[in-house]
Parts: sequence; C-alpha cells; structure tokens
Amino acid sequence: MTEEKSLNFLEEIVENDLKAGRYTSITTRFPPEPNGYLHLGHAKSICLNFGLALKYGGKTNLRFDDTNPVTEETEYVDNIKNDVAWLGFSWANELYASDYFPQLYEFALKLIRKGLAYVDDSTSEEIAASKGTPTSPGKDSPYRNRSVEENLTLFEQMKAGKFKDGERVLRAKVDMAHTNMHMRDPILYRIKHAHHHRTGDTWCIYPMYDFAHGQSDSIEQVTHSICTLEFVPHRELYNWFIEKLEIFPSRQYEFARLNMTHTLMSKRKLLQLVNEGHVSGWDDPRMPTLSGVRRRGYTPESIRDFCDRVGVAKRDNLIDISLLEFCVREHLNKVSLRRMVVFDPLKIVLINYPEGKSEMLRSENTPGEEGVTYREMPFSRELYIEKDDFMENPPKKYFRLAPGQMVRLKSAYIIKCEEVVKGSDGTILEVRCSYIPESKSGSDTSGIQVKGTLHWVSANHAVPAEVRIYDRLFTVEDLGTLEGDFRDHLNPQSLVIKRVYAEPELGKAAPDERFQFLRMGYYCLDPDSKPDKLIFNQTVTLRDMWAKEAKKG
Ligand code: ATP
Ligand code: MG
Repeated sequence: MTEEKSLNFLEEIVENDLKAGRYTSITTRFPPEPNGYLHLGHAKSICLNFGLALKYGGKTNLRFDDTNPVTEETEYVDNIKNDVAWLGFSWANELYASDYFPQLYEFALKLIRKGLAYVDDSTSEEIAASKGTPTSPGKDSPYRNRSVEENLTLFEQMKAGKFKDGERVLRAKVDMAHTNMHMRDPILYRIKHAHHHRTGDTWCIYPMYDFAHGQSDSIEQVTHSICTLEFVPHRELYNWFIEKLEIFPSRQYEFARLNMTHTLMSKRKLLQLVNEGHVSGWDDPRMPTLSGVRRRGYTPESIRDFCDRVGVAKRDNLIDISLLEFCVREHLNKVSLRRMVVFDPLKIVLINYPEGKSEMLRSENTPGEEGVTYREMPFSRELYIEKDDFMENPPKKYFRLAPGQMVRLKSAYIIKCEEVVKGSDGTILEVRCSYIPESKSGSDTSGIQVKGTLHWVSANHAVPAEVRIYDRLFTVEDLGTLEGDFRDHLNPQSLVIKRVYAEPELGKAAPDERFQFLRMGYYCLDPDSKPDKLIFNQTVTLRDMWAKEAKKG
C-alpha cells in the first residue's frame, strides 16, 4: 500500500498517550450485553476496539456486560463469541462483569464509608419526581443524610435479601442540583430477586450500568474505553467513580454509532422481528445480525473492509447500505467460484449435435487469479438458456439469441438460431439451433466474431435447486428517525423463492464456498440445503439494482 491513511481521532488519542508515556501498552474491550445477537453496528465497535489494539500492539478483552439478570441468556453468550471469532478477531480474555459482583459490592461499601453513598427508601416514583429537570435542580432525598453505620447495615440487609424488589436502592451522594442530570445522586444498586445466568441466586442486588461498566473497565485496566455517543453525558459520572474509588484511571471516548439505510440497528427491535415471525430467526439472511449476513454469504473480509471505509465519526450519520454491498461484491468478485445456473429456462436443441452424445467442457472457477483452476461442465444436444436471452423480434443492437443470429455459449460453442418451435397457443416450446464445432472455447478456429455470450446448462445433466432472492427488509431509508411503527415499512418483496437449473458441479457445493452464478449474482449454500434439495441464498446482485432504480425514477 502506498497510500498513507490519516489517523482517526481515536488513533490520534492513542498515539499521543503512548508518546506521552501515559501507558506502555493499551487495552481495549468489546462489552456486549448478552441479551441478543450481534448486528453490524456491533461489528463496527468490534473492528474499532480490536483494530486499535492490533495496530498499537495492545490487547482486547471480550467482556460480557451481564449485570441485568432478567434479559440475559447463555445462548447469546455462545453466539456472540462465535460472531467475534468469525469476524476474525481473538480476544485476550473472556470476562464477565458478573464475576466482578463481589468487587463491585466492595466498591459500594467504600463509597458508603466515605460518606459518598446512601440507602434510599423512596419509591422509584418519588426518586423520579425529585430529580428535577435539566433547567431546575432536584430535591434532596429525606434519606440522604443517614449515618455511615445505618447505611452499611441497610445495604448489607439489602444484599441479604431482607427487602422486596424496589423497596430500597443504594444511591451515590453527588449533587441534586448538578447541571448534569446523571450526577444527581444516581442509583448504584437495585434489588432484584432474579436468577442470573451465571451467578444463579447468589445475589438479589444488582449494580446499575453506570456503576458496573466503568468499574469493570478499571478492574481490567482498560486504557481506552470506547463507546457510542449516547454515553457522553455518562462520562462525568464514569470519572467521578474512578476518582472517589481511587482506582485505575480508565478513560472513556465516544464515537458515532453506525446507522445504515434500510436497516434496523437495535437488538430490542430485532428481537421483536424474530418473536413476531416477520423473519425466520436471528439468522434470517435478511437480518442485519452477523449470523444473518453470514448465512446470506457476506464474508468477514468484506465487513471489515466496510467498517474501515465508514471510518470513525464524532457525529451521528446514516451510511448507505449500498456501500456495504459494494464491499461484499468487491471481495466476492475475487474469491467466488463461477458457476452457471439458468433461472427461467428456454430449451435449446442443437440440431447438428449427435443425439445421446455428451462431452465435458472446461470452464474457469475464478478468472483473473494466478493459477486459475477449472471445473468441467457437461454439454449435450439439449440445453437451457434464460428465456430473457432470446427474442423472436429483437430491436437493433440486440446481441443475444434471435432468429438467424449467433451467440457464444460461455466456455462452449457458438450457436446459431435456425428455427423457433411453438405450441398451438403460440408459446415457444423450444428453439432449434446449429452449433459450430470449430468454435469450441479455447480452441476456436471458426474465425467467427459474436457479441453476445450466454450462460447455459445441459438439460439432462442440470440439477434442480431452490434459490432465495433477498431484497431490503424495509422500504424506508432512515429507520432511526421514523415516526410510527417500523413494522409498517416491511418490504413484502424481501424474499422471493425461485426454482432453477444448476450445472451439476453445484451438487457438490460446500457451506463455506461462495459462488457467482454468471450474470445472475452472488450466491452461497443455505444451511437448510440437503443433497436432494439444494438451496442457495442470493448474497448480493452483480450490480447495484437500487442505484439503477433511483436513476430511472
Ligand atoms: P442495541 O441498541 O442494539 O441493543 P447496545 O448498544 O445496547 O445495542 P451492547 O451489547 O450494549 O448493545 O453493545 C456492545 C457494544 O457495541 C457497545 O460498546 C456499544 O456501544 C456498541 N454498539 C452497539 N450498537 C452499535 C452501533 N450501531 N454502532 C457502533 N457501535 C455499537
Ligand atoms: Mg446496551
């Protein structure tokens, strides 16, 4: 690479910190809450966190932010690990915020002893009502000035299960008139008699996000804690805890979350799509989840490339999904195996090709690569081409098949249309052609030049297959600013199923192989596929169909 890429603002921060000797090496973390499957937004965060550590010789932890017992499940943990590994990253440590519960409890005791936390008996309604507004101060809780001893006793009783859910909370004692609402005596612990996916019933008090997240960073000595912009107002509290607890000074930095056109980027809403049956599951190929795009045939390389091109912004923006599709095409064009599949067959009979004969023809797997490999395709008297590739009364400059016209069949021969055979109702039954034996690809001595090249399959050798063709799940561009219900904008055409005829080599398709069905698009085998019922997913079209639509309109 000759091109020098300029540093993004996070790289600048890290470089400055390293130059200034603030740290000798950096540690980042990717902190998913195991309450759903990862989506492309998470991929952005993963690439950023792991990317920084890789670039500067540091390390990245995978930390499950599992402090909310109600929504979290082990199934999600396993899938998240699988997704991060699939994207191509390895974490230094697999960690769980829930493992820090004892330490976080100690931190809370420390704040109480310092007179910086108190147990509040107010109801959640009372607490909310006394918070004030951004322009007016809040009111001190009547329990704010409890003695350290009383607070210690009550907090221990909270932990021991003496109280019911919601009866008491532990709050930090900061300032009820603070200009930052997050600093108005935030809640540190709440009572929740709930089973946790890892700690079981050991705890009935659980730390709030703000009290768990920053402290977890600090326990792990994370140097650069990167999160999305909505956490900007939390930063002050993040730093307050570090200062008052006198613990490792992790620093929080915020970047703009990834938003994409036509795409929902919220686990909660994606869960709704799954639960309500709008999609077949988290891994439905129309889903923006990593398991969905993987099943769809997107490659980790293309997703990393996309995240790289998107860059790191400090302001919210909306990225066109066609950029992602562009990255997918770029990569698949290099790695996919070329195959021929006829979607909408028209029968061709080669009148001068012997009946009962067939021959194997060589065709490139992936052109342009060094050390090109080939597969063989059977060729015979009866073939299928696409209906669209024939016109009985073509306009000028139509270079495909038409009466009297010649075309090349890819990797095979030049054929000439001699006769159109129709049924009594006028529909075309078959097209009779002659083939030119000297025009065989690779040893063409015919001297004939043709402008059109068509894909084809041998009718008697082709294997039937199902293809699933996907379009955007939503018809609207910006789902983030949408008013009303996002489900009103589901695209009814987002899945179209077709029966097709595939060249026999595709009967051996493996799950990790990527294909370009010539002139039709990029495809991969779906996990539902069986040897006697092949199923392929369309990964992406060969060209940006939406750009064309937009120009037309
Ligand atoms: P969601 O809103 O979909 O539930 P989340 O932010 O609640 O996402 P977490 O599991 O808490 O999901 O996220 C783990 C990490 O991924 C966090 O650091 C979060 O900031 C980051 N992240 C989540 N969504 C995006 C996004 N769209 N763009 C960039 N980073 C994201
Ligand atoms: Mg979250």
